[in-house]
Amino acid sequence: MDSTAFDEQLLDKTIASLQLHGFQTLLVSTPEEAGQAIDTLVDQIQPASIGYGDSMSLRSTGSLARLATRPGVAFYDGFQPNMSRPQKWEIRRQAMTADLFLTGINAISADGSLYWVDMVGNRIAPIAFGPRYVILVAGINKIVKSPADARARLRRIAPLNAQRHPGFQTPCMADGKCKDCDSPDRLCNAWLTLTRCYPQGRITVIIFRQSAGL
Ligand code: SF4
Repeated sequence: MDSTAFDEQLLDKTIASLQLHGFQTLLVSTPEEAGQAIDTLVDQIQPASIGYGDSMSLRSTGSLARLATRPGVAFYDGFQPNMSRPQKWEIRRQAMTADLFLTGINAISADGSLYWVDMVGNRIAPIAFGPRYVILVAGINKIVKSPADARARLRRIAPLNAQRHPGFQTPCMADGKCKDCDSPDRLCNAWLTLTRCYPQGRITVIIFRQSAGL
C-alpha cells in the first residue's frame, strides 16, 4: 500500500483511540524504523527472557535476529524448522511467561481495539496475560474503520493464511473462501479481541506506514 494513499484522519483517530485505551502507541515510517523502536524499548525494559509469536510484520522489522543474539537474554524460539512439533510447543509454552513477548496484529479498528485469529493459541494467549511486557507490530494495512470491518478482515485473511501451509488440507485451500470448516487442520480455532490494555502501558503497539503481512 502506498502510504500517501492512506486515510490520515483514520490513522490519527486510531492512534488516539489506542492511547486512550491504555496502549502505548508509536507511529513510524518503515519496518526498519519499527525495528529500531523495538531495540529502544528492549533497552529500556532490559528483559531476562524474550518470546515471540510468528508474524510477517514482525519479521519485516529485522529485529528477531538481534533479539536472538542479545547478550544475557533467554530467547525462546519455538519456530525453528528442524524441531519436532512437541519441541516447538514446549518452547512456545516457555514464551508465555517470558519478560517480553512480541508478535503482530491481524486487525486494528479505529475505535482502539485489536483483533487476532489463531490456530494453536500460542500467539494470542501471551498477549492477554503472562509476559510483563508485550510489543505488537503492524503495517497500516491492518487498520479498519469498525469492529465489524475487523471481523470481516479476519475472515478474509484466514484462507490466505491457510494457503501459506501447503501440507494442510482445509476447504479454503482451493478457492480461498472460508467454509467455517471442521477440518483437523483448521487454522481458525482461537479468536482474541483486546479492547483495553491492562495494566495500562503493558502493551506497546508500533504501527509503520507501509503494508506488511496478510
Ligand atoms: S475456518 Fe477452515 S475454511 Fe475457514 S479459513 Fe479457517 S481453515 Fe479455512
